[in-house]
Amino acid sequence: MITASPAARLSPPEADWRTLWREAITDARELLAYVSLEHLADALPADDAGFNLRVPRGFVARMRAGDPHDPLLLQVLPQLAETHEVPGFSTDAVDDMAARSAKGVLHKYQGRALLIASGSCAVNCRYCFRRHFPYGDEMAAAGQWHQALEHVRQDESISELILSGGDPLALATGKLEELSRGLADIPHVSRLRIHTRLPVVLPERIDTSFVEWLKALPLQKVVVLHANHANEFDDSVDKACARLREAGATLLNQAVLLKGINDEADTLIALSERMFTAGVLPYYLHQLDRVQGAAHFEVTDAQAQALIERMRSRLPGYLVPKLVREVGGDPSKRPL
Ligand SMILES: *Cc1c(COP(=O)(O)O)cnc(C)c1O
Ligand code: SF4
Repeated sequence: MITASPAARLSPPEADWRTLWREAITDARELLAYVSLEHLADALPADDAGFNLRVPRGFVARMRAGDPHDPLLLQVLPQLAETHEVPGFSTDAVDDMAARSAKGVLHKYQGRALLIASGSCAVNCRYCFRRHFPYGDEMAAAGQWHQALEHVRQDESISELILSGGDPLALATGKLEELSRGLADIPHVSRLRIHTRLPVVLPERIDTSFVEWLKALPLQKVVVLHANHANEFDDSVDKACARLREAGATLLNQAVLLKGINDEADTLIALSERMFTAGVLPYYLHQLDRVQGAAHFEVTDAQAQALIERMRSRLPGYLVPKLVREVGGDPSKRPL
């Protein structure tokens, strides 16, 4: 009989996610060199309009070298088109400032309150509204979550708390522990939802202490990931998803429909199928928020609807996401 020695059973030490976060690529020329596209450097915009390039190295490793149309590269590389002003594209595309009900709390929809837990992300996605959001004074995690939790405590209609941002898992696990202590005496909250791109772009974030925190949480847990293309998944992402599921979380994904990245039926079908192998179900496919600098990613509603129809004809219903747009003042995301 062969038994492994105790040393052989020990898993390798965990990579510290904060170190990997800090080591992200922030220089466009360095990124282009990594993917053997140095010659594109001349086409970069002269300045990044206050939204710098940022992408973790593990995500870069999933890009195809030598391909200027790589769907992961196009999500993070600044383009000249961002500098064009296009009518209808503004800096507060979804009217978030109007929905603010306490420091860092957006309470737009019945039963759900969204906390802007952090203004940081491991990756800067070029299509994101975050490039214009005034995070400076809007963080729910400030002062031990006090104001945000007070709002939730006062309103018994809130049964689900959503952590969003930025990326809420940018916070240290200790900061999340502060939150769960604060929630312990708010019995009307039965679900915690976390909107995060970190399990995809920096899966090392789902480390042992985070998993222990999530597992011990006496609430129902939903983690809504954000991936737009099947190539964003690899073994490390599968492992992060498996750990989240083992901790009791239901895993969903929201994607944004992006021209030149995932605006073909085959691509969206591959995404649904790939994410399902990681135990993730599609939730929303968002029409782009009309933020300044992102117009070149827009797909028309007619094209979007045709894509969904093609998905529906080729996939089981549970692998077809709901196509929605966020419209300020609506009582929910608007189905298209
Ligand atoms: C999108 C959003 C939610 C969540 O909506 P669901 O349809 O439940 O996913 C909640 N609050 C705000 C402010 C939102 O923007
Ligand atoms: S909020 Fe989400 S989409 Fe926006 S930059 Fe961060 S990770 Fe990307």
